[in-house]
Amino acid sequence: MSSGSSHDKWNYLLSFPFALLCSIDMGWSGFLVGGASFLIGGFWFSPDLDIDSRPTRRWGPLKKFWMPYRQCLGHRSIISHSILLGTISRLTYGMIVLIILASPLCLISVQTIDINLLLQHELPKTRIHLVLCALVGLETSTWLHIIQDCNIFSKN
Ligand SMILES: [Zn+2]
Repeated sequence: MSSGSSHDKWNYLLSFPFALLCSIDMGWSGFLVGGASFLIGGFWFSPDLDIDSRPTRRWGPLKKFWMPYRQCLGHRSIISHSILLGTISRLTYGMIVLIILASPLCLISVQTIDINLLLQHELPKTRIHLVLCALVGLETSTWLHIIQDCNIFSKN
């Protein structure tokens, strides 16, 4: 099992090459989005959100929102520590919490939002690849974490 500091070290080390890889096709925007999503995936959306870990503590006072996630999943459960499913579970859980927290605001402002205006400003197709790049960055950092937990990268 890899330590939190080892996870952090490899996350730092591999974020730059990953960002460079993303920049080949998407330029600076790919570099920034790819690198940032890789770092965010390793430091804040890590599979180790299923225990009281460094990624959990980085959420500061918001870490309590991950408590139900931690309690429902055991450490290294098939959900938190698996490829695709792990990232999907954390993103889904985060969105559910965000929706619950934002719902009072939505109820207040829904009457002032013009739905037709929102539909006219859908996400431009040129931005879709950046969203995919961000998702791949989050998922790649999960792969790195799982590989380290399997001790494929020997000691530190
Ligand atoms: Zn882990």
